[in-house]
Amino acid sequence: MIFPLMLFNSLDRKAYGNRIFDPVISELISLESNGITFQDRTIYFVLSVCVGDNKGINSMLGFTESFSSNYWCRFCTLKKDILQKSLTESPSYLRDKRNYEIHLKSKSSKETGIVSECNFNVLRDFHAVENYSVDVMHDIFEGILNLEISLIILSYIRTEKYFTIDDINNRINFFDYGHIHNLNRPPQLCLDNLKTLKIRYSASEMMVFSKYLGIIIGDWIPENDSKWELFKILMEIIKIILSDSISNSMISQLEILITEHHKMFVEIFQLPLRPKHHLMLHYPRVIRNIGPLTQVWSMRFESKHKVFKEIARSTKSRTNICLSILKRYTLKQKTDFETFNISQKIKSFGPKIQNYSQMFKKLLNEDKDVEFYKWISFCNVIIKANVVLEIGHNGEYTQYGLVEEIGFSKANSKVYVFLKKMNTLYYDCNRFCDIVELINEKQAIILTHGFIKTYNLIHFNSLNMVL
Ligand SMILES: [Zn+2]
Repeated sequence: MIFPLMLFNSLDRKAYGNRIFDPVISELISLESNGITFQDRTIYFVLSVCVGDNKGINSMLGFTESFSSNYWCRFCTLKKDILQKSLTESPSYLRDKRNYEIHLKSKSSKETGIVSECNFNVLRDFHAVENYSVDVMHDIFEGILNLEISLIILSYIRTEKYFTIDDINNRINFFDYGHIHNLNRPPQLCLDNLKTLKIRYSASEMMVFSKYLGIIIGDWIPENDSKWELFKILMEIIKIILSDSISNSMISQLEILITEHHKMFVEIFQLPLRPKHHLMLHYPRVIRNIGPLTQVWSMRFESKHKVFKEIARSTKSRTNICLSILKRYTLKQKTDFETFNISQKIKSFGPKIQNYSQMFKKLLNEDKDVEFYKWISFCNVIIKANVVLEIGHNGEYTQYGLVEEIGFSKANSKVYVFLKKMNTLYYDCNRFCDIVELINEKQAIILTHGFIKTYNLIHFNSLNMVL
């Protein structure tokens, strides 16, 4: 749940600087010291992390907003020309409270990257140099991934001539993204955008495009193509940083992959590493401190931002636009709370089906009172016929099942999914997908509130593939 804390006009920020946060800081000090007393218990609060895009975070914490300056990194004090070649994090150059104080006293922002003392440092448990927050959405999906896919596709079209712009656009157009990703299906590529190394995709479109790029063009790429190897490593990195739980061994693997990726990028494209490449070097440290990065990326906050922009556009009064937006948003939130139905949020059903197969009924010996539905939305995941569910792991490969029917028992409130089982044959390294075959074995599973992973089944070269 995201609540608005403060709204201000960017012109006021320019006039008042970071003093604009003073009212928020006073509130936070009170919450930290006095807390809130509720039913004879006092709950105290701490500010754990400030999140935002790189420019926003740097300016909020008092670091330089210019990423072309010499010491722009909020995590370390490496100089720009070193950052552009650096393949690993340099522990001896990390910012800490001690060097922060020295840099602050020197009052030389050009030599230290610190423009002003962070106002939030007055809070007991917060310090600008310990604010472990990075933004995967802007760093990766609107940054590195966009840049590298542009470079790779442009090279494949103009240098290697594996395909033409029309070839790839035809495949992008006719690709079946499935109901899971149809909302964010990527638009056609434009050669001019590729030349400027900026594909005009939103972060969500880029997520879908990169996920399926292996299947879209993988068969055109020869094995061991160095640029494709680079893209594969980047996708391995993304797999780890989007994980909901990350083990220590995964963090160590991430460090190795990032170094390998950066080394290859410099060798292949003969280009300096970008600021967002450098920020990736700090990802393992950030994960060790705060956990999975999707907890702090801008994706959720940006979508909330859209709501405020819609209210602003529909409000004619400009006397105090921030107040108008907050009032209307608070009323909307009140209505949302009053109409919120937790059971509907957990599961809702499509139309009932009369012509279900009796065979699945037989699988449910213990429960005869099952009704069948066209689809069910379970914990925000829509499950319907032909969706592939992850049902286990055999030690070597992930095991999948193809959904055929969905049933719900009112007697015990259980959701049953009836599947045709699949045998995972191997992992296709060039297309980043599991190759599976359907087997003549049915299975009924009970959906639980645990994590549900769904996939699209893509028919390709007469093989069934699951991502
Ligand atoms: Zn750094």
